[in-house]
Amino acid sequence: MADRYLRLTGTAPGRFLTRRLGLPQPTPLRRWSAEHPALDGAVLRLTAGDIAEPRAEPLAAVVLDATAIAEPVGLGAVHASLHPLVRSLAACGRVVVLGARIDPADPHQAAAQQALEGFVRSLGKEIGRGRTVQLVRLAPGADAEAALGFLLSPKSAYVSGQVIEVGPAPEGGPGGPGKRRVALVTGAARGIGEQVAATLARDGAHVICLDVPQAADALTAVADRLGGSALPLDITAPDAGERIAAAVQGDGGERVGGLDGPGGLDVLVHNAGITRDRKLANMPADRWDPVLDVNLGSVLRTTDHLLKSGALTDRARIVATASISGIAGNAGQTNYAASKAGIIGFVRALAAVPEVRERGITVNAVAPGFIETRMTAAVPLFIREAGRRMNSLGQGGLPIDVAETVAWLAAAGSGGITGQVVRVCGQSLLGA
Ligand code: NAD
Repeated sequence: MADRYLRLTGTAPGRFLTRRLGLPQPTPLRRWSAEHPALDGAVLRLTAGDIAEPRAEPLAAVVLDATAIAEPVGLGAVHASLHPLVRSLAACGRVVVLGARIDPADPHQAAAQQALEGFVRSLGKEIGRGRTVQLVRLAPGADAEAALGFLLSPKSAYVSGQVIEVGPAPEGGPGGPGKRRVALVTGAARGIGEQVAATLARDGAHVICLDVPQAADALTAVADRLGGSALPLDITAPDAGERIAAAVQGDGGERVGGLDGPGGLDVLVHNAGITRDRKLANMPADRWDPVLDVNLGSVLRTTDHLLKSGALTDRARIVATASISGIAGNAGQTNYAASKAGIIGFVRALAAVPEVRERGITVNAVAPGFIETRMTAAVPLFIREAGRRMNSLGQGGLPIDVAETVAWLAAAGSGGITGQVVRVCGQSLLGA
């Protein structure tokens, strides 16, 4: 599972050798830790057209406000501001361009603002040294700070080339004063789900960890370690929604241990997922059906039930797990890619449902790329190595990278972010 090549290029002889052979030189990413919670260096905030003084110290980040650009001729200001700064940006530094929501009634504004997307995605591909580049599109009345808090921190190490739209946020987040947030994570016995559960617990939630009954021992160990609760349950069971509602609220069943105060689920993370790869011509229905049911059908059924039964609180956060396969497609994964593309359709549509919006509930998806887990360790060596390198950061991500992104979307301050699909893929070339 370990990325031995990344370790090799982290040594002086390895760097020398790989440079001589013209091989990629991925930069080890700076990730969040309690000891080093912020990037080193200053964050420079500019409006497009501002020219910054030259600096001796490398910059941690540049935030460029390009929201006012409404004509393509104004794009020269983006070049003027950023061209002199690119070389001053530290390794693992950040560029965030703030754009405006595209106005379909104004073709010139639409051209100028869409141009920022091509700009950001190209800069992300060329900037190198573990640095990332994003576009945050602000709707009228939106506040960029919740997005910037994540994107300018080491928590977003493996997120690059993303376009994220932020709208105005309703007051307050889930939980509220005096109430500890309750989160449920499916597929939490191992891999990405375990890390999501740990990260939500780090951020103060009581986490209910759900996984199949066969994984009950590992699940209980995770829940105990995090001070949360274990809920062994197959998410495809027809009554899974009812069982989760009962576990949270106690209606018609047993409430899981460790919960106090009024019931209600504040954060719902659909992470459980399976693959059964085979080309369509060789794929029997028994490899198709379970993938569609675990990855998509169960997500719709349980979400619908938890919304309807009132088990989800106002201003709850729903985060589902898609995949870059669901965006780009992947040979041998018609079933998996269909299920993950379905997730994208679901979150976009559910986020726009008036009742969901009015209740301040947000619905988003993360779309991981190549993440170092048991799932990807099982991929044949050559394909695995290609998956690791074919992205702007030249390496695979870690479960913590997905977990940090989920935790950000689940945070109280992220109420303005809904209907978004955030790729955690190091700007993978697949589906770019
Ligand atoms: P994993 O196989 O390590 O873990 C998945 C967990 O889900 C397991 O603990 C499993 O027991 C549980 N699960 C499976 N079916 C279930 C069911 N019916 N009910 C309850 N739990 C069930 O996988 P992972 O790599 O950690 O992936 C987590 C999610 O991320 C999945 O949705 C996956 O499709 C997605 N994803 C992963 C990658 C990657 O590179 N690893 C890339 C893109 C997307």
